[in-house]
Amino acid sequence: MRQAAAAALFAALVVAVSVAALAAENLEIVWHPARLALGGVGWVHVKSLSDDAMVEGSAAGRPLRFFPYAGGHAAVVGIDVETRPGAHPWRVAVAEQGRTPRTAAGRLVIVRRPFPVQRLTLPQAMVDLDPATERRAAVEREALVTLYRTITPERLWRGRFTRPVAAAEPPTGFGARRILNGRPRAPHTAVDYTAPAGTPVVAANSGRVAMLADFFFLGRLVVIDHGLGLYTLYAHLESASVGVGERVDRGQTIGAVGATGRATGPHLHWGVQLGAARIDPLALLALPVAD
Ligand SMILES: [Zn+2]
Repeated sequence: MRQAAAAALFAALVVAVSVAALAAENLEIVWHPARLALGGVGWVHVKSLSDDAMVEGSAAGRPLRFFPYAGGHAAVVGIDVETRPGAHPWRVAVAEQGRTPRTAAGRLVIVRRPFPVQRLTLPQAMVDLDPATERRAAVEREALVTLYRTITPERLWRGRFTRPVAAAEPPTGFGARRILNGRPRAPHTAVDYTAPAGTPVVAANSGRVAMLADFFFLGRLVVIDHGLGLYTLYAHLESASVGVGERVDRGQTIGAVGATGRATGPHLHWGVQLGAARIDPLALLALPVAD
């Protein structure tokens, strides 16, 4: 009796294991890279699928948004800077005409990376906001959050991303823990390029201008929608030379470096957002996507 139960359990396990192996065999999925750091950007490739396949999935609790790519489908994966390090589940589901739907799942390893600590001293009047300014800043933050929740269903970018400004020094500051006049603040989720006022700022890739505004903290800014939840933000501009809704190409001038908003000197504050994830712009520049 006990033997029979053990045999039944063994048979069930064999079935479970072969179902898992079958699912893995059925879908050929490659992660580039296999591990991602906090703020990191990578991509996942589901190979050998028809262009009209329906592909959906998630990784580390965030949706993956797929587009046809290199004989299969791909999605950009962005890891928010404040994600908990460790192994996070991912899953992918594929439906193709005339075929049984297929799924696959696994774990994506997210690793820690060191972030600098920046101590800044500003005139106390710029740090302590009056209630009206406090409200204004809150409304502006909310406008960005709302924009980033808006998902354009097609990919508007192509190929590699380009740096948005010709600066002599490499940019700094992504993920920096900021201590402002002795008090800890939210991490800095962009990079800062120091450049003379008036230096042209260019679009990192093709897309559509989604926002043009003048914010208390970020000053004059442009946000470009690259589709499928990917946005780039260019802030503290002296001037902007594009209009809302305008299509832009990679490398097209969209404005000029300035020191508008709360800035200690002329620089470009460049941020990248993928859905709700705040990601490292330098990781986006290194994204090895050919087309
Ligand atoms: Zn900045």
